[in-house]
Amino acid sequence: MPEDFSTIVQAGVRSLTPYQPGKPVEELQRELGLTEVVKLASNENPLGPSPLALAEARRALSDIRLYPDGSGYRLKQALAQHLGVEIAAISLGNGSSDLLELVARAFLGPGTAAVYSAHAFAMYPIYTTATGAECRVAPAGLGHSHDLDAMAARIDTTVRVVFIANPNNPTGGYLATAALREFLQWLPRHVIVVVDEAYCEYVEQADYPDCMPWVAELRNLVVTRTFSKAYGLAGLRIGYAVSDPAVADYLNRIRQPFNVNSIALSAASAALTDQEHLRRSREVNAAGLQQLQAGVERLGLRYTPSVGNFLLVDLGRDAAPIYQALLAQGVIVRPLANYALPQHLRVSIGLPVENECFLQRLAQVLADV
Ligand SMILES: *Cc1c(COP(=O)(O)O)cnc(C)c1O
Repeated sequence: MPEDFSTIVQAGVRSLTPYQPGKPVEELQRELGLTEVVKLASNENPLGPSPLALAEARRALSDIRLYPDGSGYRLKQALAQHLGVEIAAISLGNGSSDLLELVARAFLGPGTAAVYSAHAFAMYPIYTTATGAECRVAPAGLGHSHDLDAMAARIDTTVRVVFIANPNNPTGGYLATAALREFLQWLPRHVIVVVDEAYCEYVEQADYPDCMPWVAELRNLVVTRTFSKAYGLAGLRIGYAVSDPAVADYLNRIRQPFNVNSIALSAASAALTDQEHLRRSREVNAAGLQQLQAGVERLGLRYTPSVGNFLLVDLGRDAAPIYQALLAQGVIVRPLANYALPQHLRVSIGLPVENECFLQRLAQVLADV
């Protein structure tokens, strides 16, 4: 046995720090003996999933002695129809995080590099580093947005993957059609570009790009989406990627044989058919966003305009004590020191009463701490 496992662990793994998820409700209840807890920390849909999805999930329970359909045929067929793409272009994952990791494992390794923006999704550096590849972080532009020129300046022959979150988490901003299209067209074809659209269902802006039709033409483009956010199925873990079939073939070679469970496959197919539930979720989100923005403004705080289901709030001071004080009051939000935003908090948009609770407690805590 080695004295110290750090001498044998892969170099990329040695240097990692684990992802910090939003604090689970039960954990806070356990720690502080609280019963009433409001969690606005993980961008979950406060309405939950469609009742149709829940009914299908329950039905699927009766078959869990069987392995899932490893090809995910029914869901892929439903997605192909829904998105207007061919079935061979679709890959399924255990959350879209799974697909981000598969892209990293398939295309990155020692001697290669990935490019992404500062203040972008925290899993990009983790998946990149784990493969032994280099992380090239482009400084963000105005309002913590992706600066595509800064990203372009970091592309050379060692770069294999570019990650773009659109809209971005945790900032809430988005790239418009013309700018993104120009960047994708410019990008050398030896670079796989992942456009991570985890929040696309929420975006109502007319200049937000629909990347799906571009996949057939820009063969290095991979678009990832998830059922975790607007579809309200975060606990089931299911997402998908749309790419050139040749790229999908590589992802398929390295995935777990049954990377998506049977309950998730069934629930996601049903969720897709309930576009009315999605519309209602968008409506609740838009109203909640207004409520939070107005409330935060009343407290004299600045925020970054958001098109997602969360709001980045600038406290103008160290956010850690405020985060802790909110926890003590039973309100869980997300501190962002690990996103290099130590003065900010990210607040997911909840139901009106949850948003109000957050605003009241924040006002109190800001006065006290
Ligand atoms: C939440 C999120 C994801 C992935 O979530 P999954 O639950 O793994 O599908 C991916 N990208 C961004 C930017 C996210 O915020």
